[in-house]
Amino acid sequence: MLRVEDLAVEIGGRRILQGVSLEAGPGELHVVMGPNGAGKSTLLNTIMGLRRYRVVSGRVLLQGEDITGRPVYERARMGVALAHQFPPALKGLTLRELVSAMERVYGSARDVEWAAEILDVEKFMDRPLFAGMSGGERKRVELYLTVLQRPRVALLDEPDSGVDIETLERIEELLVGLRERGVLVLLVSHTMYMLEKLADRGAIDRVHVMVAGRLVASGPPGEVFRELRRAGFQGIARAHAG
Ligand code: ADP
Ligand code: MG
Ligand code: MG
Repeated sequence: MLRVEDLAVEIGGRRILQGVSLEAGPGELHVVMGPNGAGKSTLLNTIMGLRRYRVVSGRVLLQGEDITGRPVYERARMGVALAHQFPPALKGLTLRELVSAMERVYGSARDVEWAAEILDVEKFMDRPLFAGMSGGERKRVELYLTVLQRPRVALLDEPDSGVDIETLERIEELLVGLRERGVLVLLVSHTMYMLEKLADRGAIDRVHVMVAGRLVASGPPGEVFRELRRAGFQGIARAHAG
């Protein structure tokens, strides 16, 4: 469904990604891990098609179609959604107003009631976005807005960073719910507490390790987590290079 082929990406003339390939199908959860600055966000933003990310070589395919040159809105229409992508003009609306505007585009919010319940967003409905929300509250609302877009491919960039344990458990349930509903999730996360729980539930299909713009390991979670504990990111990168 999603295929990234030998991708090289530059930002402002500087090479950020090199030789990145991965493949993921519907209903799969793939995790991208790696140190700060490795290029994880760059990978997600490039798949979404954000303009400052220049694809120097390689391709991104969605359902067999080459979307490498396609603008963001076309990818969005094809079902790709990136958490965090909300036009600043929408700020100042209440969540209820935004949800109702989105319903005209995406269909009734009742269809994703399951996600509203897991994320417990009802209490935010009449508050302006994102005024006075804690980090965790904001993450929950952002995830809900992502689900409202009915993504086929959900690109989630650290939806779990800086949130408390209760919120982490909600995010874990949401990820399981998306996967069970056939959504392909590409998740960037550092939160081993949550990742190990997801892996124990059999909810992670593959883990990719990115170091310095390259994928230096890809495999099932048990295997990759074991290597990470043994060798760390840099150890895996050295073994990959050698
Ligand atoms: P990660 O998400 O793994 O922490 P990023 O993809 O954000 O890494 O960043 C990868 C590299 O690209 C870093 O060296 C970062 O400084 C650089 N970078 C990211 N965004 C920009 C930008 N807009 N302009 C210049 N360099 C950038
Ligand atoms: Mg792979
Ligand atoms: Mg990042």
